Amino acid sequence: MDFDALIIGTGQAGPSLAARLAAEGMKVAVVERDKFGGTCVNNGCTPTKAMVASAYAARTARRAADYGVVLDSSPRVDMKRVKERKDQIVRKATEGVEKWMRGLKGATVYKGHARFVGESRVQVGSEVISAEKIFVNVGGRPSVPKMPGIDGVAYLDNESMMELDFVPPHLVVIGGSYIGLEFAQVMRRFGSEVTVVEMAPRVVAREDEDVSLAIQEFMQAEGIRFALNAKCLSLRRDGDGVSVGLDCSEGDSLARGSHVLLAVGRVPNTDDLGLDKAGVKTDARGFIEVDEGLRTANPRVWALGDCNGKGAFTHTAYNDYEIVADNLLSNAGRKHTDRIPVYALFTDPPLGRVGMNEAEIRKAGIKARVGKYPMNRVGRAVEKGETHGFLKIHVEDSSGGGRILGASLLGTGADEAVHSLIDAVYSKMPYPEFQRRVRIHPTVSELLPTTLESLKEMGSG
Ligand SMILES: Cc1cc2nc3c(=O)[nH]c(=O)nc-3n(C[C@H](O)[C@H](O)[C@H](O)COP(=O)(O)OP(=O)(O)OC[C@H]3O[C@@H](n4cnc5c(N)ncnc54)[C@H](O)[C@@H]3O)c2cc1C
Repeated sequence: MDFDALIIGTGQAGPSLAARLAAEGMKVAVVERDKFGGTCVNNGCTPTKAMVASAYAARTARRAADYGVVLDSSPRVDMKRVKERKDQIVRKATEGVEKWMRGLKGATVYKGHARFVGESRVQVGSEVISAEKIFVNVGGRPSVPKMPGIDGVAYLDNESMMELDFVPPHLVVIGGSYIGLEFAQVMRRFGSEVTVVEMAPRVVAREDEDVSLAIQEFMQAEGIRFALNAKCLSLRRDGDGVSVGLDCSEGDSLARGSHVLLAVGRVPNTDDLGLDKAGVKTDARGFIEVDEGLRTANPRVWALGDCNGKGAFTHTAYNDYEIVADNLLSNAGRKHTDRIPVYALFTDPPLGRVGMNEAEIRKAGIKARVGKYPMNRVGRAVEKGETHGFLKIHVEDSSGGGRILGASLLGTGADEAVHSLIDAVYSKMPYPEFQRRVRIHPTVSELLPTTLESLKEMGSG
């Protein structure tokens, strides 16, 4: 064998795994076909959150008078400078990962597309590399649905959005879920007219209904339009712009815009990997099938990150690395199934989520209670002038032990405040114990125990 370990992809799991295995004295190969750092660094978390920050600055500048700050002229967004700032942050991150990998003692970096040609052999360009263990960390790409007219129009996705150095006059966002909503609010704050088209009756339909409605409300208050229940979508060119047909019927209703962004989910990069040559199996949607320790049908191959369908976040990909490394090096017996769902939606205000929501609790048949507290009664939110949203915590009924089951925190600082609840859910903490701890004033977190004072039976819904 040429190497002890071969890692395909330098997203959120591969680089750390390469470093850890090399530090253990293994001979490691790393293959990357594109920019180092993968989706999060180049087209995902990092650039979008840099843009969210610029959009927040634009919004705050427009609201300056509310805070007693006088601007001598109305603020303008210079999209070229927004892009430059974002590019600089991304460049530093991607160059950092590349430098790290190329400087790693005991590791060899290959640049090119990797494809299996055998159970433990991979081809990159004209070279065939063999390795004792192979780790697949190939991530995903935007999904392009087969909707009528799609081949006849130019559309944007999360990758081409990163190249925009102008503000589209009217952006139609197809997809009212996490990625679509973040872009919708950002572009609205930069000055675009924005219409969000969603097939479901509400945005982020995985969340509880009150969460979806509150998000829609604060986005509408900023002038974003919503076309929900768009059952059958089509696209067509319309002068210089594009029209999105919403129901495919005669004389159908249309959402018209200058540009259209497709944000309708992601597909794994597993179709061009030669997985059949390695005996690695995928499910119907192309995700690599893995066991609890992330090992594939080929015992020498592991799949980590978005390509295994066990998470769709940077933190889940990174956790996959920790699981695989700890199991290999310390026989730790860690499992991806021990993970509790945690994530955030980075609109302003953000949504911080942990554990089960109402729909999941009902489905599981757990007797539970819910506490809810509006953000307009949270001192810190009032002081900041950012009072949209609410805090919502679900707990098991006391007869079942009173454990905290989950939370949906929608409000300023919620992406941070949710972390104390993450710890509570992981430690199966009964809610009275959570309530007894002293928290810092004035913060959003200090109102979490108060939220638990308003617990009511959840009912059957
Ligand atoms: C717009 C957007 C915003 C997001 N925001 C967030 C967020 O705020 N928080 C969060 O947690 N998550 C966010 N995500 C999700 C997050 O980016 C992904 O979950 C994360 O990047 C997954 O990491 P990964 O390691 O699985 O794969 P990736 O980061 O996609 O990396 C895969 C790497 O493999 C390489 N590769 C693929 N195939 C091959 C091959 N055959 N040969 C060689 N190399 C190959 C690719 O070039 C890439 O570098 C966002 C995603 C998007 C699209």
